Amino acid sequence: MEKKSGIIVALDIESREKALMLALEISDLIDGIKVGYPLVLSSGISIVRDLSKLTKVICDFKLADIPNTNKMIALLAKQNGAEGIIVQGFTGSDSIRAVVESFSPGEVYSVVEMTHPGALEFIQPVSMDIARISVQAGVNGFIVPGTRPERIEIYRKNFPNMKLFAPGIGVQGGNAKKVIESGADFLIIGRSIYESEKPRKEVENIIDSIQ
Ligand code: C5P
Repeated sequence: MEKKSGIIVALDIESREKALMLALEISDLIDGIKVGYPLVLSSGISIVRDLSKLTKVICDFKLADIPNTNKMIALLAKQNGAEGIIVQGFTGSDSIRAVVESFSPGEVYSVVEMTHPGALEFIQPVSMDIARISVQAGVNGFIVPGTRPERIEIYRKNFPNMKLFAPGIGVQGGNAKKVIESGADFLIIGRSIYESEKPRKEVENIIDSIQ
């Protein structure tokens, strides 16, 4: 993923038409679109191919399975034109590596810590270990919590070469400028954009706010 505006839009919507129209409206302003289960389960995997004609697509399938199943899903995402894919780092080195190897030359991003309050129960205490094994398995970047900029600073300091993607901006409470200043490379933003009456204006405002 190449950084221009630094904005990745999470299209967690269930309508193929709405997804494609929104992508058309804002594709020149953003660096990519993140597609997750709500859109793929309602529209089919072909939505990845259709969106990838307009912009780069990251498949957020949060892969958390045994290596063989992870590999099968990663291959389907790759065959449909995805440029990036997200894996759950906590599943271990072999499961992460299966995705890195099968998705190559695409980029793999590992969730090292999540944005929601429940992430403090199990994930955050071991997040540095998750980050370390993810690097050893060959990932290109981490998904870090945009709701906790102080944690992003720690990842930036310890992993200077990793691309850092921060969801949790806007509706979940994260502040775009603070998150960029903490060292994130990309902001992943969903509802603030796709629920806005004027999505293009909203993207422009966010870009202005981080410059
Ligand atoms: O609508 P909102 O901007 O909160 O969307 C955030 C997106 O990022 C959602 O697709 C969510 O699943 C995803 N995400 C997250 N926190 C993580 C990893 C992914 O919010 N740690």
